[in-house]
Amino acid sequence: MVTFFCAIGHTTNTVFAASAEVPATWDCHDCDRPAGLDPNNPPVSIPSGPYKSHLAYVRERRSDADAEAILAEALTKLRAAA
Ligand SMILES: [Zn+2]
Repeated sequence: MVTFFCAIGHTTNTVFAASAEVPATWDCHDCDRPAGLDPNNPPVSIPSGPYKSHLAYVRERRSDADAEAILAEALTKLRAAA
């Protein structure tokens, strides 16, 4: 069992065969960012846009139900502005 750590603090446990070579990075199961073996120095993916939106931060801190409400509110504002 090998634990990988992504840049935003998820841990991904992966089982490798004893004969298998453990890779330096692995895709985080939670966010698909690259995850590494060192929790203090996780690999950082190169973002193509803003690395993480404010909404993404909010969604991490709150429950899924709250996030849904926030997302709905944001969509309503977007539609109203359009
Ligand atoms: Zn992650």
